[in-house]
Amino acid sequence: MRVLVLGAGFGGLELTTRLSEALGDDAEVTLVDRCDGFVFGFSKLDVMFGRTTASAVEHSYRDLARPGVRFVQAQIQAIDPHGRRVETDAGTLDADILVVALGADLHPEATPGLVEAGHEFYTVAGAFALREVLDRFEGGRVVVGVTSTPFKCPPAPSETALLMDELLRRRGLRERSEIALVMPLRAPIPPSPEASSVLRRTFAERDIAWHPERLVRALDTERRVAVLADGGEMPFDLFLGVPVHRAPQVVLDSGMCVDGWIPVDPLTLETAYPDVYAVGDVTSVGTPKAGVFAERQAGTVADAIIARARGASSSATYDGRGICYLEFGGDRVAKVDVTFRAGHTPAGEFEEASAALAQDKAVFGRSRIGRWFGKEWSVH
Ligand SMILES: Cc1cc2nc3c(=O)[nH]c(=O)nc-3n(C[C@H](O)[C@H](O)[C@H](O)COP(=O)(O)OP(=O)(O)OC[C@H]3O[C@@H](n4cnc5c(N)ncnc54)[C@H](O)[C@@H]3O)c2cc1C
Repeated sequence: MRVLVLGAGFGGLELTTRLSEALGDDAEVTLVDRCDGFVFGFSKLDVMFGRTTASAVEHSYRDLARPGVRFVQAQIQAIDPHGRRVETDAGTLDADILVVALGADLHPEATPGLVEAGHEFYTVAGAFALREVLDRFEGGRVVVGVTSTPFKCPPAPSETALLMDELLRRRGLRERSEIALVMPLRAPIPPSPEASSVLRRTFAERDIAWHPERLVRALDTERRVAVLADGGEMPFDLFLGVPVHRAPQVVLDSGMCVDGWIPVDPLTLETAYPDVYAVGDVTSVGTPKAGVFAERQAGTVADAIIARARGASSSATYDGRGICYLEFGGDRVAKVDVTFRAGHTPAGEFEEASAALAQDKAVFGRSRIGRWFGKEWSVH
């Protein structure tokens, strides 16, 4: 049974690891990605804020050596979900089971003025480049702004505002600076009222201006003003943006998307096409776009494929649960344990920021790199 997994991010890495662990050399798995290696989303913030270096957070796909799994570095150029056939710049790949885990592509150029006058911190290149920009920054008006919905890791803009506050205080620049956070959400973490109220209180204590239910539509490059969707304006010296997200063009061209993302059965992650699954950010499954959700969805698909390989049937269903860690600065991290289930109001449990949870988060990162890449790693 040939399993073809497109995308070696959170979803693809977890899926192929699970298949290899269960099926060993009997797994005929091919994993395709265009990149040289994997970088955790949270590592982007670590590099940007000078807590570690770029080379310390890049995990090369060369280190992937799992029984039964072949890694192909290639650009995926076309996906035929009917025939489960994929064209890449390294040749054609055919599959009995196809899993699309291609994530969300980021488009800074879709927001007028963002590339010219601002910075984005969501791509690896953008976040890594910001390290020097932040080193040189001498204080002023900082706007952290979201430019469209949906966007990955909804807590990340709040974390960025808090880490920016910490950085400016450490460098003695906080007094001459202002920080504003512009977000489309009504609360910082909508499924957890407790996390949201702690965050709002922390923003107030640290003098971070919180602007809910607003979006940045453009940057006026001459006046250095962020123009909001409701017509409001915010002058800035440093703009840190969350760029527009879209499904990768090759996925949009495949005909699999409805309203921009791949619809899936929320319990099985099956698409409308027989033996084609989709997991993670590329789907409209109903969870936020975050690695922890992609990973757990991949686990459900792995269970189904493993059962089938063993001639059994799987009753595993996706439960919508994820644990999100939240950087508060000062090496303290909070935790939200949240479950999204179709037809239910999402419920989240919150644990206050602490040094112990910072350790938990480090273990989270280390354990993934250990399982996926078979190597030791420490987060910073
Ligand atoms: C600043 C920031 C902080 C974050 N913090 C967290 C966090 O703390 N916890 C958390 O759970 N999530 C976090 N996230 C979100 C997380 O990174 C993503 O939600 C997660 O990576 C999604 O997993 P995925 O498998 O769906 O897609 P991805 O991990 O994005 O993987 C998709 C893969 O597909 C490949 N690909 C795409 N198109 C092609 C193509 N045409 N050809 C070949 N390959 C292709 C890409 O190279 C990529 O490797 C954060 C994100 C950001 C930006």
